[in-house]
Amino acid sequence: MKNIAVLGSTGSIGRNTLEVVRNLNRNGFPVSVKYISANSNVELLSQQIEEFKPKAAVIFNEASFIELKSRSLNHKCEILCGQAGINEIASRDDFELVVNALVGFSGLIPTIEAIKHGKDIALANKESLVVAGELIYSMLRESKSHLLPIDSEHSAILQCLQGEPIAEVSRLILTASGGPFRELSKEEMSSVTVAQALKHPNWVMGNKITIDSATLMNKGFEIIEAKWLFNIEADSIDVLIHPQSIIHSMVEFSDGSVKAQLGVPDMKVPIQYALTYPGRVKSDFPRIDFKQLKNLTFDEPDLEKFECLKLAYDVIKSGGSYPIVLNGANEAAIDLFLKEKIRFTDIPALIKSAMDKHENHVSPSLENIVSIDSWSRKFVYDSAAELV
Ligand code: NDP
Ligand code: MG
Repeated sequence: MKNIAVLGSTGSIGRNTLEVVRNLNRNGFPVSVKYISANSNVELLSQQIEEFKPKAAVIFNEASFIELKSRSLNHKCEILCGQAGINEIASRDDFELVVNALVGFSGLIPTIEAIKHGKDIALANKESLVVAGELIYSMLRESKSHLLPIDSEHSAILQCLQGEPIAEVSRLILTASGGPFRELSKEEMSSVTVAQALKHPNWVMGNKITIDSATLMNKGFEIIEAKWLFNIEADSIDVLIHPQSIIHSMVEFSDGSVKAQLGVPDMKVPIQYALTYPGRVKSDFPRIDFKQLKNLTFDEPDLEKFECLKLAYDVIKSGGSYPIVLNGANEAAIDLFLKEKIRFTDIPALIKSAMDKHENHVSPSLENIVSIDSWSRKFVYDSAAELV
């Protein structure tokens, strides 16, 4: 029996994770969901409590906490609130693995807490590694925790690396769909609507990562994520636009051989791999029909047009605390874009001005990370207020 906690169980990855749990339980790989968490979705969290019968559920929003506590559910479990609730469950010894499906900076402290308590982490929350890669990397060396990627590209790479000597890896090739605006000019991109940006061609995901995929910031984050997960220099990580999202990523070895992992775009596959790693369990998830695949195409990303990816490359070069600014400024800018306060093309402009104002810290501590994150958000909100 595998005992797990699913943080962010009401989100896109969280719901897919619970679907994977249903599949595993049907197919002879028993998984027990001991803990779940949400920000404010009381309705769905209540349904999940009734179905999965966890020991405790954590809810972040205080008003939602009060509402959830007042419900008379058939399954009685502890209802905990906020970060204190997460810290409380992280310290318990009745589960081995945390699925971190929280979005943005909110996922960082739970990742750190899980490592402190020696839990394995199936990590969807790539922002943890963007803002604190160095810190997490050094904590992992002292802990018995392992990080298992849920991100489809990193799951693909992990699968390609099985049985291979890491010293013989010459390049990682991250594929990117290119998002909904791949064929627009920069001019046209300045007038795209929120609804257009939220319409990803291949994947159905939460709002924040869908915007990151439209700006290609997501791919910049994934380079940073791959660097820390696989301990490989960012110079050896390439990005290739592959609009069909069939090849999820590739590894090139020293002898010139390339391994790729393929599948239909469905997050249940990488989530299940993280839960069953290093084994595999049968599923009825959709399969590729190769006869329907007319062509698989590959192209270079356009850094002139997708400035967020260019900013991510700059941050990778400068290192230190710049990735924290990249992430915090990006979250604030996305929030403003989703509220229709700024244009799509203001997102990279605001992030760049925050980066220009920032003075680098080498090897930032957790306290530094938290304060630089707050500064970056405030900088973007203040700068945007001056724009209007
Ligand atoms: P969603 O927005 O769909 O879900 C986020 C989850 O986190 C929800 O359960 C939400 O609760 C909860 N949450 C949101 N804000 C907070 C907060 N401040 N404090 C505590 N809990 C919070 O996100 P996704 O599932 O799309 O993404 C999750 C992570 O996975 C991201 O880091 C993303 O980059 C990564 N990822 C996602 C993919 C996808 O297919 N969606 C693919 C690859 C990576 P509530 O429902 O109550 O708001
Ligand atoms: Mg991805």
